[in-house]
Amino acid sequence: MKILVAVKRVVDYAVKVRVKPDLTGVETANVKMSMNPFCEIAVEEALRLREAGAAAEVVAATIGPDQSADTLRTALAMGADRAVHVLHNPDPARPLLPLAVAKILRAVALQEKPGLVILGKQAIDDDCNQTGQMLAGLLNWPQGTFASKVILDKEKAIVEREVDGGIETICLDLPAVITTDLRLNQPRYATLPNIMKAKSKVIKKVTPEDLNVDIRSDMEVVQVTEPPKRKAGVILSSVDDLLDKLKNEAHVL
Ligand code: AMP
Repeated sequence: MKILVAVKRVVDYAVKVRVKPDLTGVETANVKMSMNPFCEIAVEEALRLREAGAAAEVVAATIGPDQSADTLRTALAMGADRAVHVLHNPDPARPLLPLAVAKILRAVALQEKPGLVILGKQAIDDDCNQTGQMLAGLLNWPQGTFASKVILDKEKAIVEREVDGGIETICLDLPAVITTDLRLNQPRYATLPNIMKAKSKVIKKVTPEDLNVDIRSDMEVVQVTEPPKRKAGVILSSVDDLLDKLKNEAHVL
């Protein structure tokens, strides 16, 4: 069985995101970019399933500009067998929305015919948390979102999901779509020999047009601005002071 893993290039989680002076988006020039952390967990899970003998091949896929190839190389250095790069140059005013990404991933899945597609539960740049669900809907495949444990058993996947009240265990018929939560695993670091090996692994390049996918969107980003600055807090000397402020200033008592 083949596992398809969707990986996204995002601003590194440790970078403080800044808005561009012209308010068209966030600054990405000279900013460290990395694989979305939830996608690293997705790659790790696919590799563990392959290493356990439950899968034969791991294919990483991304949609993005030329530089997104770095993200695919990271997935290949972690251990993915090959990769698919769907080239798309972003226009800040017309960002690629989760539905367009899901349509492209659906087309890739129909070509690759994986038994399982693993995505991150969300990308930390837009925090949408929509692509996996939309992909499952478009493919009409069962979905296990927010996975904290995955077991493959012949034609089924047993998925433990993180839900508000605790852990929900579900059983999915394959092929299926799974999205990863933080506690699923601890992703490995790519070793130097594997980084070298990754350079000779195959990255197939295609465009949304090659896949016959229309990615036009109805949404236009008009302006991106910083959130309003929070006012400084005050330290009160007693509970009576606090009650007084809540009653007479905040008017909440
Ligand atoms: P989102 O719905 O945007 O929060 O993204 C959830 C997941 O969808 C990510 O963790 C990725 O696995 C996948 N994804 C989103 N955008 C892309 C992209 N441009 N390329 C590849 N995978 C993506």
